[in-house]
Amino acid sequence: MQPTIAARTDTAVPPQPSTTAGSLDARIAEALSRPAAQQPQWPDPVSALSAVATLETMPPLVVPQEVDRLQSRLAEVARGRAFLLQGGDCAETFAGNTESHVRANLRTLVQMAVVLTYAASMPVVKVGRIAGQYAKPRSNSTDQLGLPVYRGDIVNGFDPVPEARVADPARMLQAYAHSGAALNLTRAYAGSGFADLHRVHEWNRDFLRTSPVGERYEALATEIDRGLDFMSACRVDHGALHSTELWASHEALLLEYERGLLRRETGADGTEKLYGLSSHFLWIGERTRQLDGAHIALASLLANPIGLKIGPSTTPEQAAEYVERLDPHNVPGRLTLISRMGCGKIRDVLPAIVERVTATGHQVVWQCDPMHGNTHEAASGYKTRDFGRIINEVEGFFEVHRALGTHPGGLHIELTGDNVTECVGGAQAIDDSGLAERYDTYCDPRLNPQQSMELAFLVAEMLRG
Ligand code: PEP
Ligand code: MN
Repeated sequence: MQPTIAARTDTAVPPQPSTTAGSLDARIAEALSRPAAQQPQWPDPVSALSAVATLETMPPLVVPQEVDRLQSRLAEVARGRAFLLQGGDCAETFAGNTESHVRANLRTLVQMAVVLTYAASMPVVKVGRIAGQYAKPRSNSTDQLGLPVYRGDIVNGFDPVPEARVADPARMLQAYAHSGAALNLTRAYAGSGFADLHRVHEWNRDFLRTSPVGERYEALATEIDRGLDFMSACRVDHGALHSTELWASHEALLLEYERGLLRRETGADGTEKLYGLSSHFLWIGERTRQLDGAHIALASLLANPIGLKIGPSTTPEQAAEYVERLDPHNVPGRLTLISRMGCGKIRDVLPAIVERVTATGHQVVWQCDPMHGNTHEAASGYKTRDFGRIINEVEGFFEVHRALGTHPGGLHIELTGDNVTECVGGAQAIDDSGLAERYDTYCDPRLNPQQSMELAFLVAEMLRG
């Protein structure tokens, strides 16, 4: 049984908004009327509309004030004064939405963040791929068995049987309930002692004790020890040492779900703003970034900070066009450009994009996703990623930004706090034959906690030049 909310039965179709030309309603309707890639075919479109109507009556999952606060944090990243760390599952699942999984993922994120905060001497903005990362874009509409492809738990089921693969709109209501539960836990952890700096550093000490590469990072950890001792000696006991800010994010892929959680808020200046209150931060994926498509059009109307994945085929001209559309009011940090080029291409493709975007005068966050351009099929048949290639892409990202004088603002990582064997390499030297040991992902391969911490320490070295 899944946690869910009951669909409304009093209305099958959401009330039609008044669409005076130029009104917000008209602009939303226009955006959603555009071609939209990667949407499911609901066998019963009326019950999909009814699910949207139900979501429209529910409390939002996040509130505008939180979203605005994240926006101000990202403005600091865009200005080169903070670093963005975003990470979590490729695809969250309903079954995986347990206390232990959410906790392990957040724990890995905060552990990485402590290392990066110290190395960068900057605040690290921590954003989970969490509490809503349930919709997946796919390369093909059918799988190897000829079944409709799995599109994420918010659409259909993973089991390779025809019944499971039928798109079911009731899943949007389950996703809402699961997201609410995960957000509740995330907020509770953020505000309690979970992320206490001393405690997180102790976890990192444990990592170093057990990792084959622990010795290499001993010096850095000892420096952090000294910093903490120094603060204690000075009786520094600020609340920020014991709590933290954790933000949620997901790919804004499934437009009906996102539409059900749109909310308006009138700001202090009297202007009406539109928020996507399914999460704090929403991004558009590589497969739905068509310039004239619905995803870009809807995102351009939102007050949330927005991410955009840019793959190796992105041209500098397109990048400039995205920036104009997705940052229409020229707000620093409003747009995060997430390059996912592949380690063989980033050094060639990214520089011209960075130069062209910088010339527009918009202040974006530059973030590196070293995962999605570096996926391959192992001899054993598993979809995997090589730790060395992931690191190579991050190195390329730093090289490009250092050469151009721009801020390498952040990382976007698929990771889990569970001890999976999905990516090859790293200090544990997972090889092709080891992948079968614990390959849990429903979609893309994630770094396990050891690999994630190793990446954090390697990036710490890059940050310190
Ligand atoms: C993802 O982030 O899981 C994803 C599908 O990425 P991309 O859009 O970059 O392929
Ligand atoms: Mn993925």
